[in-house]
Amino acid sequence: FRADKTAKICVLGHRGLVGSAIVRKLREIGFTNLLLRTHSELDLTRQNDVESFFAFEKPRFVILAAAKVGGIHANNTYPADFIAINLQIQTNVIDSSYRHGVQKLLFLGSSCIYPKFAPQPIPEHALLTGPLEPTNEWYAVAKIAGIKMCQAYRIQYGWDAISAMPTNLYGPNDNFHPENSHVLPALMRRFHEAKVNGAKEVVVWGTGSPLREFLHVDDLADAVVFLMESYSGLVHVNVGSGKEVTIKELAELVKEVVGFEGQLIWDSSKPDGTPRKLMDSSKLAELGWTPKVSLKDGLVDTYKWYVENVKQ
Ligand code: GDP
Repeated sequence: FRADKTAKICVLGHRGLVGSAIVRKLREIGFTNLLLRTHSELDLTRQNDVESFFAFEKPRFVILAAAKVGGIHANNTYPADFIAINLQIQTNVIDSSYRHGVQKLLFLGSSCIYPKFAPQPIPEHALLTGPLEPTNEWYAVAKIAGIKMCQAYRIQYGWDAISAMPTNLYGPNDNFHPENSHVLPALMRRFHEAKVNGAKEVVVWGTGSPLREFLHVDDLADAVVFLMESYSGLVHVNVGSGKEVTIKELAELVKEVVGFEGQLIWDSSKPDGTPRKLMDSSKLAELGWTPKVSLKDGLVDTYKWYVENVKQ
């Protein structure tokens, strides 16, 4: 994969948290022929458009990071969009890629594909062993279908399609919406605004005791390149940091990085969610990849980006 830096690589979803990090990484390595399309240039839900795009452009590699994503609230409000749009995007892209001679494709999902009561840390083989978390099953079912589609095309056609399932990601281009975003960007924004406004207190949701795993998106991008280069297996691969923190530890760390000096108020009327969510990433470790960005360094990097981009 790294051998020919002029190979045409199509990164779909290149403006998002994940896609933008993959593009940064590929450029850093020296790839010069990236094929990118914004949503308005190419609507991936339209089969004819996707088909014509692949027939004309004939990329050699495809990284599929385009998806309809959102938090609990969005999933509950727009279940039809979450299942239909994701199924359409991935079916169109995977099938057209195969038909037009793409050498290798990598499909990205998320840890919500696993059953609600999967063992912790969650191994790859926990897939389809139990009921899903109902609040995001629409998205999860689509992503599971994507994994299965890659497997089916490998089995039937011998085509090199792989899947990677990242843990909770953070970094530049994340969603910093105050209510609808995930905990890390939500807290970063709240602490920042409190610091700027000279507030004495910041409210944090829940009890602070749940455990979560976080991975900087630059590490995911590095893992994606690693997998493109050295993995061609049937089973999807978990991509995590292997490091858990309590929400309380996370809040203290974000507070320190932002430089907010007031107090934390824990609002226990807000839900804690699942007590623990950790991926088993030992398969990726055995393949030879390890994460490089510590949570502290990753937070410093993300806060720098946030401050530079907050006005937009
Ligand atoms: P989850 O990992 O799917 O549960 O998603 P979240 O990132 O939304 O929440 C993780 C944990 O952080 C939960 O225990 C939340 O209660 C807690 N949390 C604390 N403050 C916040 C906040 O301001 N926003 C969010 N989204 N979660 C928060």
